[in-house]
Amino acid sequence: MMSAASLARRARHLVIEHAYAAEVGHIGSALSIVDLLAALYAGVLRFDRGDDRDRFVLSKGHGALALYAVLTAAGLLDPTELATYCTDGSTIATHPEHATRYVDFSTGSLGQGLSVAAGSALAARLDRSSRRAFALLSDAELDEGATWEAALWAGHSRLDGLTAIIDVNGQQALGYTADVLDLEPIADKFLAFQWAVSEVDGHDTVALMRALSARGERPTAVVARTTFGSGVSFMERSLEWHYRPLDESQYETAIQELDAPSDRG
Ligand SMILES: [Mg+2]
Repeated sequence: MMSAASLARRARHLVIEHAYAAEVGHIGSALSIVDLLAALYAGVLRFDRGDDRDRFVLSKGHGALALYAVLTAAGLLDPTELATYCTDGSTIATHPEHATRYVDFSTGSLGQGLSVAAGSALAARLDRSSRRAFALLSDAELDEGATWEAALWAGHSRLDGLTAIIDVNGQQALGYTADVLDLEPIADKFLAFQWAVSEVDGHDTVALMRALSARGERPTAVVARTTFGSGVSFMERSLEWHYRPLDESQYETAIQELDAPSDRG
C-alpha cells in the first residue's frame, strides 16, 4: 500500500482529470477531502474483512469524485472503471452509489450520514464485532438538526465504534459558513455531547492517521481543518469552485500546479 501522502497526490490528479473530462463541478469540495480519504484508505479503514469490514459513509456525497479517485489510487477500483465517471450506465457519478464496489451507502441528501453511521456502529455492537463506522461530514452538515440528534444519541450510548470526521473548510455552496451560520466552536459542541474530540490539520496525513486510528470509550469526532480546493491555488477558498467546471486553460494550470515540486510530505 502506498503512503497516504502518495495516495493523495495521485488522487488529486485523478480528480482534476476526471472532473475536466466529465465537465462537472464540486471540484473544490472534492479537493478539500482528498487527504482525509487517503489517510482512511492508507491503513485506518479495514475494508478487506468481508461482512465484518469497517463501514464508511461519505455523508457529503457531492465529494464522491475524491472517494473514487482515492479508491483508484489505492488499486481498489480499476482506472477503466473510473473512466466511466458520469457516463451513461455507470454507477460512478457525482454522488456515491452503493452498487459500486467499496461503497456501502448511497449518499447525497445532506445531513443524514451521521445517523447512518451511528446505526452501523450500533449494529456492530449488537453483533459483538470490533468493526468501526466512519462518517465524513461537511462542516455545513452541522447546520442540520438530524446531525445533532445522531450526535446526542451516540454520545449518550457511548458508541465507541463511531467516528465522525468533519471537513471544516469554512464554505458551503455559495457562502462562507461564518456568514451563513456560524458553527464555532465545533470541538466544544461535540465535547458537550459527550464525544471524544481531536482537532487536526486536515491535510496532514500523518496526524490524520493518528487521530482516525484512536478509539476510546466514546464516539470520536475528528475536527479536520481543511482548505477548500486544496492543491489548486485558484480554487483555494474560492466560492465559485463549488459548482464550476474547468475550462481547458484552467485544467492545464491545475495539472501544472499539481506536478510542481511541493514541500507537502
Ligand atoms: Mg464546507
